[in-house]
Amino acid sequence: SSTPCSVIIVGAGISGISAAKVLAENGVKDLVILEASDRIGGRIRKEDFGGVSVELGAGWIAGVGGKKPNPVWELANKVGLRTYFSDYSNARYNIYDQSGKIIPSGLAAASYNKAVDSAIQKLRMQEAKLRGLSTITEPPLTPKTPIELAIDFILHDFEMAEVEPISTYTDFGEREFLVADERGYEFLLYKMAENFLFTSDGKIVDSRLKLNKVVRELHYSRNGVTVTTEDGSVFEATYVILSVSVGVLQSDLISFRPPLPKWKTEAIMKCDVIVYTKIFLKFPCKFWPCGPGTEFFIYAHERRGYYTFWQHMENAYPGSNILVVTLTNGESKRVEAQTDEETLKEAMGVLRDMFGPDIPDATQILVPRWWNNRFQRGSYSNYPILATHQDFADIKAPVVPIFFTGEHTNERFNGYVHGGYLSGIDTGNALLKEMKNEKGSEKESQPFL
Ligand code: FAD
Repeated sequence: SSTPCSVIIVGAGISGISAAKVLAENGVKDLVILEASDRIGGRIRKEDFGGVSVELGAGWIAGVGGKKPNPVWELANKVGLRTYFSDYSNARYNIYDQSGKIIPSGLAAASYNKAVDSAIQKLRMQEAKLRGLSTITEPPLTPKTPIELAIDFILHDFEMAEVEPISTYTDFGEREFLVADERGYEFLLYKMAENFLFTSDGKIVDSRLKLNKVVRELHYSRNGVTVTTEDGSVFEATYVILSVSVGVLQSDLISFRPPLPKWKTEAIMKCDVIVYTKIFLKFPCKFWPCGPGTEFFIYAHERRGYYTFWQHMENAYPGSNILVVTLTNGESKRVEAQTDEETLKEAMGVLRDMFGPDIPDATQILVPRWWNNRFQRGSYSNYPILATHQDFADIKAPVVPIFFTGEHTNERFNGYVHGGYLSGIDTGNALLKEMKNEKGSEKESQPFL
């Protein structure tokens, strides 16, 4: 067991790093960051693929151009991250059917508007039911045809903002920028870490950051916490900040002694986890349209979410000949469980439906597995539409000496990079306050000793 420190931070994603930065800037320098994987960044992660950097996790800086500045957009500009404006809303005008025909834009727009109306109606009905009001309106139509299913998928799995207001867009603006930087989105985290950890040649060389340390047990009392990792190391501290995803909290990776209180575990179990998978395919040449308004396109199939949402990377990296297809939830889990060769075969079948039998096979495929990654267990949190303030308060509340942080603890911006970033700042400040109170009460209690 090493010498006790003030704070252990579990997880070196953006929330863990931003919490550590707040502590370090306020004089708490004897901290240790334990990260299970061999890198910082967590769900912000680039990989070299087909000669460029691709983002397996977060890709967009969402919420730009509004009343308030998005703090992640400000950070990105400060460090000179390369981004470009990217608008997926016109994907609905590039819907291919199984015979490779593009659905006429009038029909696509009409189907889209119908789907939005029906989604809004469904939401109203849910709200009314929850308040005990009876509904007399007709139940909304369920999507059946391939076009209806494709539109339902893009509406609910991408453009939720059309149905209910999302704080990210109402606060920070409706624009979204994609990161296309060889150093990766994760460059933001390195620049943040540089403020309080020792670095050399663009690498963190600070012994307070410990990689490949998988936390398995947290033994705690009011006096402090003992953390045991998979390799048998033991770390002691007065406080711990836990920044692991809600999917990890729902799994049995970390055991708590004593167990967490019931209100906490209930709040953790209530939160849904979305799986979102970007599959990258590299081709010897391009065979897809590349003009304005073509970056995103849709495939309409009778199975909902079957290789529906496509993007070409010509805007990000011209000449890279890379396509990305996004799967979610059930389809993500299905594909994670099969071999990449099977996935490649399915994807090529879909592309040949859209672009004809003569297109070349992809030469490389990359299939991230966020669901089966035991340090993630999904891509991001998703609260039921009618989640209460109390649900958020409970998931965020400390069980002293354990403090919780991460995108899932941010009521306004959960599911986003800026949600993770802001949650780390919140938790860092909450812990500083607790430390000050403790010091204060120690002094006050002196006369009674
Ligand atoms: P994480 O980044 O998950 O950090 C937690 C860290 O804890 C990880 O590094 C993990 O390895 C570590 N850990 C886990 N268990 C242990 C353990 N037992 N011991 C030690 N360490 C452990 N957001 C956007 O804003 N825009 C997007 O376009 C976007 N797209 C996304 C696409 C995908 C595919 C995914 C997966 C996410 C996307 N997000 C997007 C969400 C965004 O990436 C997250 O909200 C944010 O990065 C979460 O940060 P975090 O610090 O809360 O968690």
